[in-house]
Amino acid sequence: MIDDVITERKAWLSNAVAELRPLFNCAGYKVPENVRVTCARLGRRTSGCHYSPSWSSNGNHEIFINCSIRSAHEVISTLVHEMVHASAANTGHGKDFKKIAFAVGLIGPMQNTDAGPVLSRWIKKFVKRWGPYPLAQSSDMFPADQFARRHLLTRSEKWLVRLGGQLASARATAARMPEMPGSQLDKAVAEVKEIIGVWEQVLLQMEWAQK
Ligand SMILES: [Zn+2]
Repeated sequence: MIDDVITERKAWLSNAVAELRPLFNCAGYKVPENVRVTCARLGRRTSGCHYSPSWSSNGNHEIFINCSIRSAHEVISTLVHEMVHASAANTGHGKDFKKIAFAVGLIGPMQNTDAGPVLSRWIKKFVKRWGPYPLAQSSDMFPADQFARRHLLTRSEKWLVRLGGQLASARATAARMPEMPGSQLDKAVAEVKEIIGVWEQVLLQMEWAQK
């Protein structure tokens, strides 16, 4: 059961990463392609953490969001904080970190940032499009089976509609791949992979919910 909650959250978080990328681009920074995100049990005082590729066996930037956090606002402001770590040249909360953090709308002390007004509005819009953070309204991290199935099914159907458009553009990108120069190709493959990854997760959870 807990695995399904994590799968659903992972899809929601991956969507957030994909949609936050342009925000970083607009501010003049680039989030590495190989960022992966999930929720995990972390210490009570830790909202999130980031591991650089040298720590990860598969060479990705790994971001973990504390699974005890339920509010979309807190989840995304934590995610943005960890994405700043992934984008910064140096580790820690130094000058490099601060510059990017302010540029993408974080405020407050750098070790414990929060979303500023612009980023807060962005979060509200994101929640409108994709729904609240999965199971955030539930009083229990392990909700009754039936409740969870119904909840997942409604959410998955919404996601499938959204993903339809993204899949069409992934197909168009794939069709152009044979003529692409190497530099573009890597980026295109990563984009298509990411979309297919989310698609697979949604299909898996729908399958589970319909059982
Ligand atoms: Zn940090």
